[in-house]
Amino acid sequence: MCGIIGFAGHEEAAPILLDGLARMEYRGYDSAGIAVRSDKWGLQAKKSRGRLETLYGLTHGGADLDGPLGIGHTRWATHGEPSDINAHPHISEGGNVALVHNGIIENYLEIKEWLLQKGVHFVSETDTEVAVQLLEYYYRECDSMLEAVARLIHRIEGSYAFGIICSDYPNALIAARKDAPLILGYGKGCNFIASDVTAIIKYTRDVTYMSDGEIAVVTAESIDVFDTDLTSVTKARSRISWDVSAAEKGGYPHFMFKEIMEQPEAIQNTVSPRIRDGRVVLDKFSMTPEEVRSISRIFIVACGSAYHVGMVCKYTWERLLRRQVEVSLGSEFRYRDPLVDENSLVVIISQSGETLDTMAALREAKRLGGKTLAVVNVVGSSIAREADHVLYTWAGPEIAVATTKAYSTQLALLDLIGLYFADLLGTVSAEEYREILEAVQTLPEKMRVCLEDVQKVQYLASRYFNHDSIFFIGRNLDYAMGLEGSLKLKEISYIHSEAYASGELKHGTISLIEPGTLVVALGTYEALFDKAMSNVVEVKARGAEVLALTTEKFRDRMEKTADCTIVVPDTHPIVQPSLGVVPLQLFAYYVALQRGCDIDKPRNLAKSVTVE
Ligand code: GLU
Repeated sequence: MCGIIGFAGHEEAAPILLDGLARMEYRGYDSAGIAVRSDKWGLQAKKSRGRLETLYGLTHGGADLDGPLGIGHTRWATHGEPSDINAHPHISEGGNVALVHNGIIENYLEIKEWLLQKGVHFVSETDTEVAVQLLEYYYRECDSMLEAVARLIHRIEGSYAFGIICSDYPNALIAARKDAPLILGYGKGCNFIASDVTAIIKYTRDVTYMSDGEIAVVTAESIDVFDTDLTSVTKARSRISWDVSAAEKGGYPHFMFKEIMEQPEAIQNTVSPRIRDGRVVLDKFSMTPEEVRSISRIFIVACGSAYHVGMVCKYTWERLLRRQVEVSLGSEFRYRDPLVDENSLVVIISQSGETLDTMAALREAKRLGGKTLAVVNVVGSSIAREADHVLYTWAGPEIAVATTKAYSTQLALLDLIGLYFADLLGTVSAEEYREILEAVQTLPEKMRVCLEDVQKVQYLASRYFNHDSIFFIGRNLDYAMGLEGSLKLKEISYIHSEAYASGELKHGTISLIEPGTLVVALGTYEALFDKAMSNVVEVKARGAEVLALTTEKFRDRMEKTADCTIVVPDTHPIVQPSLGVVPLQLFAYYVALQRGCDIDKPRNLAKSVTVE
């Protein structure tokens, strides 16, 4: 969600902070600001509602703010409307402390009351201002900023990543975190804090992931980490495996288009190292065969597109593992008293590994005694660290808000995990094991075939972009795939769209079909193709315009009935949704392009949702 960057060095901080914020723009935000400290001017802050360009203008690209120490923030408002005043950094009433915050302070009202009684004045509506005022209050009492921060985090409840500078500390910035991402970056003659590695990857690939309850003191020369009792903590460093070019557009018009095109490679990177001599090999996977064999029930918990990966997986894993698989939304799971026990496996899927709803579900699953397995893309993220077991998708950084390559790598990795489990459980025949594995291995090359035909999808988008309501229909795996196709379209083109299990249409939704309604009919699932065709005929009979998606095998039959047809290569049914989704992503992309939408930064959406 929002972004935090902090810099301690020997050169001007402001331009570096602005550059870092620009690199995190993709995460979604509504206002931005920076604060810098210098000996001459003390603390100076500039902030404004709206896009970063406004802040660039306001500070003349940072030139107006002097000082080698600073913090920056892009806000995604939770408490108080997006406005100049509510934007971060917030400065304490006495002018001593500047603070940026990502997250929510849940007991802010109670603390605010308390501070108001002590005579503190507030200027914003945010929960964050409470933190900075309380911090200054404690600082006055104890005279040490580190100690004041420790007292602050003992008193507040909720989630936070903090970046803090103080006028009395010329060289040091302080960071603290709980339930919101924050990393420490080691530069040359300078050091950083950031909520997202993309903000600082231009300067360093050496980072440390802060854990909950830790406080860091960062200067140009050193980074020291402490726990809440201010005992020093030794932290391991990690090296980021990708570089700055991976997080840049590289000549593509949009990150989303680049990431769609990167899918074959991302899948290759995710699956190839895990296939050896015709077997799935999960190196360093910490789940023992005995643990796998003890699983009686599987929950897949995720949000958004990752939830749709889970929907595909419900069909494929139940077939492969002969175990009940339940898919649950992260935001629902923990409030419904789920029937998790020690024989339950809870699979948590999240690109960022920071999705708060999913994280809360993970904690609930652990509390109930379930085994937890995280499938995440960001190494060292909170979910990756808290789950009992973790497997990474190696998709590289995903910048566009609407996910594409994270979705497809999750799907491909879950195919491999499913096969691995099925083998241990003895629920897959040797022949099917071989066929599915071969299908996963050939997925990148077949996906490249789907990506060669972008002109056709582009043409179809230009034909249909002005529809204001679109239905996706399909059965079984096609239905699960349709959920993702429909979400992509909604997210970036703002067209109302629904995905329906085709067989369910006649139970209600068919009343919405009228002459000219666009129905995207998905007919790639071989076992139910005839039934899918009947549903196509049904909607055609009511005047629908049908854009169909099918495989080579069914091309002729589909072309005879649908108004237009997109064809993807044939593969094993379990892997087919990985191919089918590609034209759906492209369709959403080109429709949004035709409608002039802000494709990489769709309205109201954030990349990694770190609030509940
Ligand atoms: N809760 C804070 C606010 O509304 C921080 C929001 C954020 O994470 O950007 O200002």
